[in-house]
Amino acid sequence: MADDYRVYNFSAGPSTLPVEVLKKCADEMLNYEGTGESVMEMSHRSPEFQKIIDDAEANLRKLMNIPDDYYVLFLQGGGTLQFSMVPINLMTGTGKADYIVAGQWGKKAYEEARKFGDARCVASSEEDKYSYIPKVTKEDIRDDVDYVYICYNNTVFGTHYNELPDFGDHVLVADMSSCILSEEVDVSKFGLIYAGAQKNVAPAGMTIVIVRKDLVGHAPANTPIYLDYKTHADKGSMYNTPPCYTIYVAGEVFKYLLANGGVAAMHEKDVRKAQKLYDCLDESDFFHGTVAKEDRSLMNVTFVTPSADLDKEFVAGAKERGMINLKGHRIVGGCRASIYNAMPEEGVDALVAYMKEFEAAHK
Ligand SMILES: *Cc1c(COP(=O)(O)O)cnc(C)c1O
Repeated sequence: MADDYRVYNFSAGPSTLPVEVLKKCADEMLNYEGTGESVMEMSHRSPEFQKIIDDAEANLRKLMNIPDDYYVLFLQGGGTLQFSMVPINLMTGTGKADYIVAGQWGKKAYEEARKFGDARCVASSEEDKYSYIPKVTKEDIRDDVDYVYICYNNTVFGTHYNELPDFGDHVLVADMSSCILSEEVDVSKFGLIYAGAQKNVAPAGMTIVIVRKDLVGHAPANTPIYLDYKTHADKGSMYNTPPCYTIYVAGEVFKYLLANGGVAAMHEKDVRKAQKLYDCLDESDFFHGTVAKEDRSLMNVTFVTPSADLDKEFVAGAKERGMINLKGHRIVGGCRASIYNAMPEEGVDALVAYMKEFEAAHK
């Protein structure tokens, strides 16, 4: 196989990364900027790594326009550890929080939060296989909750908050694991945003937490030290050894995004890519999208053929054509194309062409 052989990888995560960034990381693998060592081998206390993490934070702040009264933390433990860290740190006033459950990740977060206080599920679309985002207004939220929790983009089911409800003065917490940096968000509307890196940012191993400073420092005294946001906020995400290499790659992705028009330019491209796939689904009477149109995700496009056997054949045929990981999540079946920022438009074009070919051959 030629060295530059690449498939189109539609994986939900870990997922495809920009080729430019991968090449730069490869070039720097043995000798990072004349240091004679790899970032993989570098002390996290070295000035070189300090610059890598400082630049990564500064560039993320620039990309997302993050206000100064927010900390940006680079942590470990994936999105999953945030299911626990959020209630441990934030459910500390009245001990109440309201969760909107629009998918399996939101449900896991809700179930975890119940261990730590009075977490309530305000609304859930579980009975309809999470095919839409439950509509909730401020009136549905208890007045005295410490926060309201949403999952902004439901990776497994392919839904997304295309309009953010007005939750008034409530502290809003959002899991943006699978949509961070794909659209402009007004960070000041949120108390806390978190995102695992392995969907739209970098390899696995790092979670970005963006948290309003006044929300930090209220964890109970017996909180394990790693689980207190204050531990990391006080030490610039370097209380202990951080996920150095992932932070470095994330930093390279941030530079790449800034050099290519930032989040607005990514969003424009993401909208165009998703539209091509949704148009294909809407024009077809063979493939069907599985979620409510108004809640469609730009990042994870879910669909089915007329049968589970045909789904399988479709996914297998795609693989033969160099398009991998189109199988839907094991709990929903069907097909899913994850088309994060780094998926080239040509990848989507190739998928649409194959869908048309497959439909013509099987109708
Ligand atoms: C993948 C994902 C998670 C879980 O992330 P891990 O890093 O595997 O713990 C949580 N929330 C969302 C929305 C995800 O897509």
